[in-house]
Amino acid sequence: ARVLVTTAYLEPGGEVDRLLTDAGHEVVFARAADRKAGGQSLVEAIADADAVVAGTDKFTAEVISAATRLRVFGRCGVGFDNIDVAAATEAGVAVTYTPGVNRESVAELVLGQLVNGARLLPQNIAAVREGRWDQPSGTELAGSVLGIVGLGSIGKAVARVARALGMTVIAYDPYFDADFAGDHGVERGTLDAVLQAADFLTLHLFLDESTRNLIDGDRIAAMKPGAFIVNTARGGVLDEAALADAVRSGHLRGAALDVLETEPLAADSPLRGLDRVFVTAHIGAATHQARARSSLMAAGQVADFLAG
Ligand code: NAD
Repeated sequence: ARVLVTTAYLEPGGEVDRLLTDAGHEVVFARAADRKAGGQSLVEAIADADAVVAGTDKFTAEVISAATRLRVFGRCGVGFDNIDVAAATEAGVAVTYTPGVNRESVAELVLGQLVNGARLLPQNIAAVREGRWDQPSGTELAGSVLGIVGLGSIGKAVARVARALGMTVIAYDPYFDADFAGDHGVERGTLDAVLQAADFLTLHLFLDESTRNLIDGDRIAAMKPGAFIVNTARGGVLDEAALADAVRSGHLRGAALDVLETEPLAADSPLRGLDRVFVTAHIGAATHQARARSSLMAAGQVADFLAG
């Protein structure tokens, strides 16, 4: 069968290519870089594909409708909000994803951003670079309260790290895992209770219509003054304009955002120019280990699916 690979970090001749080729498939690369270099557009490339190994490219209903024989999307990663699953299902196309593979990578990024928030490391590094020997007071994570919204695979990994640091952890999840919480000393809260208690808030829920804009202006206003938000989930779960206002007014200490409503960061984003908002380029899962695990799992799922 013909397998389209759009995941940006996969290479012709790499492990995924070999896995699929060895399984007897023809592998066609249509990554953003290939498309930019004059290759086929997604709509053109998907037309005669039987399967897609996908990264974060947007597979809208329109793109999916261009496919004539597509059977499966294998998404490398866990947030599959970039694929219109309803349209895929309607068209009889299966969607697989790779649960758990990014857990440690994202949790470690969150750890780094918690330390950045507590000590404002990016500011201090920039100050020293500019010749100022600034020594502001930071805050300790030990003894601070970490609020977690979404205690799934990644949320739990973050909870374990935070508990190891001596943080108090309170979490909200509509499908709360009480056994995990009991074993790891995680308190259960309502969403409002978590927002009110948190010195640091970290988001680990998926984006769908039920979670879009969950952390809106009113909820940000209800947070503890001086709190710091880390978002490595999806941009759409948080109101960026309200966040920018809250950081500007000093209500929030700052925020670290690995995901945005519009990626890359828009030229007119309200987040621009806020030196206490640390934006990273959606690098939560961008480690050699997580990429290898997720892409090999996705390619394996696609090969298994095509094999029936
Ligand atoms: P997961 O499915 O294991 O966990 C998601 C959790 O959110 C579940 O426990 C679910 O019950 C909970 N949830 C659902 N609705 C909720 C709500 N309204 N409020 C609070 N919690 C709710 O997924 P995961 O592996 O932990 O990943 C979480 C998200 O992180 C993904 O969906 C993805 O969007 C994002 N992610 C980002 C990166 C990155 O590079 N920054 C990498 C991997 C994953």
